[in-house]
Amino acid sequence: MKMNKTLFFMAMMAATLTASAQLKPRPDAFPPVQEQPDGKAVTMASTVEEMADWDRYPTYPVYLEMMQRWAESFPQLCHVDTIGTSIRGRLILSLYIDVQTDDDLYRPEFFYSSTIHGDEVTGFVMMLRLIDTLLNGYNSNPLYTNLINRTRISINPLANPDGTYRNGNNTVQGAVRYNANMVDLNRNYPNPFGVATATPPCPPQGGTVIGDIVPPRGGQGGVKAALQPENQAMIEYMEAHHFRLSANLHGGAEVMNYPWDSFTSAEMPHPSASWWQEVCKRFVDTSRTYDNSHFRDTYNCGYTAGGDWYVITGGRQDYVNYYLGCNEMTMEISTQKTLSSNRLPEYWDFLQHSLVNYIGEIHNAPDNPIGVESPLSSLHSPLTVYPNPACDIVTVDGLQPNCKIELFDIAEHRILSVSAPSEGRVQLDLATLRPGVYILRCGTAATKLVKR
Ligand SMILES: [Zn+2]
Repeated sequence: MKMNKTLFFMAMMAATLTASAQLKPRPDAFPPVQEQPDGKAVTMASTVEEMADWDRYPTYPVYLEMMQRWAESFPQLCHVDTIGTSIRGRLILSLYIDVQTDDDLYRPEFFYSSTIHGDEVTGFVMMLRLIDTLLNGYNSNPLYTNLINRTRISINPLANPDGTYRNGNNTVQGAVRYNANMVDLNRNYPNPFGVATATPPCPPQGGTVIGDIVPPRGGQGGVKAALQPENQAMIEYMEAHHFRLSANLHGGAEVMNYPWDSFTSAEMPHPSASWWQEVCKRFVDTSRTYDNSHFRDTYNCGYTAGGDWYVITGGRQDYVNYYLGCNEMTMEISTQKTLSSNRLPEYWDFLQHSLVNYIGEIHNAPDNPIGVESPLSSLHSPLTVYPNPACDIVTVDGLQPNCKIELFDIAEHRILSVSAPSEGRVQLDLATLRPGVYILRCGTAATKLVKR
């Protein structure tokens, strides 16, 4: 959705005024350097000009002003989207690069989003610098020009502004992972396959499922905390677009993390796993040609299937892949969450080429075989299946009495066919099925079912 300019300016002025009121006098010759307890130095830029060397973090007003200046300086190339507002009323913005040309060339949509964890701020500055580099390189750098001519690019540098500016608009010191409700936004998205947030492991053969399995709500999975405003806004923004490739950026490790996060690759390999591995390898290899020391802290190859590293539920990556039909991965780009600001240029030096090239991967990206762009996408169903994923016994509810229940594998081979009992509910034993995704049909209704 396009920015409402008046709203943006009002919000920007309000932020500036708030910030001014909080500013303490300081010697002009010295920027506000703040030592963190672990010795990391966080230097803030209080003006856009102080961002010139990209070795500081912007205050919140400076961030807003940078976004606005780009939109004003490159009106033929970009505009600012307001994705939404945080709990504390801060803006969640995206700089949308969409070149105005006479041709009607189809340009797929790409999306970068950083810092859903408020204290993981390296990506925040990397995204700002990427915007600046792409816009200023248009018509002078052939790579950037070609990329922009062929791709619509949306860049959201800061997905969780309340977490980042936890201690006020003028510093990222004291930033926290969470939003203002202290909810981890990357554990707050609906889970794929209608999986409840906490899925217990499969018990040994013949055992019983222990744990609290929550039936899916509206086919969207159980969620621990209510969907937070930041995520609600992000979902609406992403649904309004048709992103084909995206990434969300984090810190605390250096590793490329491709789907799924909700399952190990043994439980459920992603259908495009080999493509993801190639993309990850190119990203890591390119960065290592500029600094060979990076992306080694977690896996020596520098990448992993998310669930093989550790399984999470409620993550954004799996939501985007499953529900939006967009190929999204998670990029952990710095071992330190809040990097010393004087190291930001060093990170840019080894990351910038990989970040630019990843946008270009959109032109090789596969059709998402799982998400809404797939033939499975039309599955809207009164059926509920739980648990899902299932190890053995599942309960299917909402059946039309006496209709035929059929189970198909992903290649549409029929595995099972039984009649629904008159009470509209049945239990099926899936113990002998191989792990994977299946489609359960009953009359015109259908739903996805995962065997673990
Ligand atoms: Zn994170």
